[in-house]
Amino acid sequence: MSTVPAVDPTASGPPPSPPPDATHPDSQLHELRLRGVTRDYGAHTALHPLDLTLHGGEFVALLGPSGSGKTTALNCLAGLLPLTGGQITLDGRRIDTLPPEKRGFGMVFQNYALFPHLSARANIAFGLRMRRTPKAEINRRVDEVLRLVKLTEQARKHPGQLSGGQQQRVAIARAIVLEPPLVLMDEPLSNLDAALRLEMRSEIRRIHQEFGLTTVYVTHDQEEALSLADRLVVLHEGRVSQIGTPADLYEHPANPHVASFMGYRNLLHLEVASADARGTLTRGRGLELRGTAVANHLLATGDQVIVAIRPEDLHPAEDPGTGNIEAIAEIVEYHGRQFHVEGLTRHGDRVHFTTTAHLRPDDAVCLTVPADRAMVFPRQPQESIA
Ligand code: ADP
Ligand code: MG
Repeated sequence: MSTVPAVDPTASGPPPSPPPDATHPDSQLHELRLRGVTRDYGAHTALHPLDLTLHGGEFVALLGPSGSGKTTALNCLAGLLPLTGGQITLDGRRIDTLPPEKRGFGMVFQNYALFPHLSARANIAFGLRMRRTPKAEINRRVDEVLRLVKLTEQARKHPGQLSGGQQQRVAIARAIVLEPPLVLMDEPLSNLDAALRLEMRSEIRRIHQEFGLTTVYVTHDQEEALSLADRLVVLHEGRVSQIGTPADLYEHPANPHVASFMGYRNLLHLEVASADARGTLTRGRGLELRGTAVANHLLATGDQVIVAIRPEDLHPAEDPGTGNIEAIAEIVEYHGRQFHVEGLTRHGDRVHFTTTAHLRPDDAVCLTVPADRAMVFPRQPQESIA
């Protein structure tokens, strides 16, 4: 009892949540299942039925723009928010009725939530002390985790004496020293500058792997999600847009929303001129483009569609005049090996493309895209993704 520091946890943010019975090293989960998990705030549904099964050792990212329900979903998992509907089971055992401390998940927040008056070491040891872990074992485990997050030299410093990246590493260490079955992270890198964000991104992946963690990671940054996660759950207005591996989503986005998130910056509103086994011919806005209908969508002549193309798949044609999209270059940015160009078509559609040729503003170009790199999505009435 005397080893528990006398602190008021409410003074400096949420304390770590020590599970009373999770013991080293059998705390690995095998399967976490969310079934129809929903959450309302009054009349507003922030999370529509979410079905998701997580496997031990997986790194899953919840990706979506601000307000899409990511934090709501994470807090439902953590037990910080009661569900409005649905169930969560951990290896067959229902956990959505348990309070956060009984779930025993590790949490890492954007604002670190460290105790300012405790050293890095004491912050990390806090949860183990709460659990009355023997002193020798606390020391052994804290040393191990300090080494893993590369903070052995900084262990005596207080949070105020550490850089943002070091504080975030203390927060991660504090969560994982308890060897939780699941680690939940909510935009943990968004308070860091760009260079540190990149460095910490690979640190998080390394720690996940070396410690054999199962991680759910919330972010609005698709690059972060793609580089970190084994699987992504893309959320849009509280609904799942698509679940898949980075390659699935990158190569086969299910809808224009996911496509725009995956870097398909050109989203042209066209109409189907003909659709057959050879592909889909689309027309409109002064253009004629051959594309590929995305899986499971049968298209017919006259259908309204959105054609999605990545800038890196759209280039000026080798023989001028043979391309499909005539445009005037407006903004030309130098990006090392190539130029990123923003242009306008005759009908005023904005197009983004890349080229190794040194274009200047006002140059006329005729752009071309391979038919298998132009994704044709059916368009709902009034649908517009800008
Ligand atoms: P994200 O983390 O993706 O930015 P949130 O889960 O925080 O999104 O929010 C999802 C939606 O729920 C938003 O429309 C937000 O305004 C609303 N919301 C979040 N928290 C509350 C709350 N405590 N009370 C009412 N509405 C909320
Ligand atoms: Mg959020």
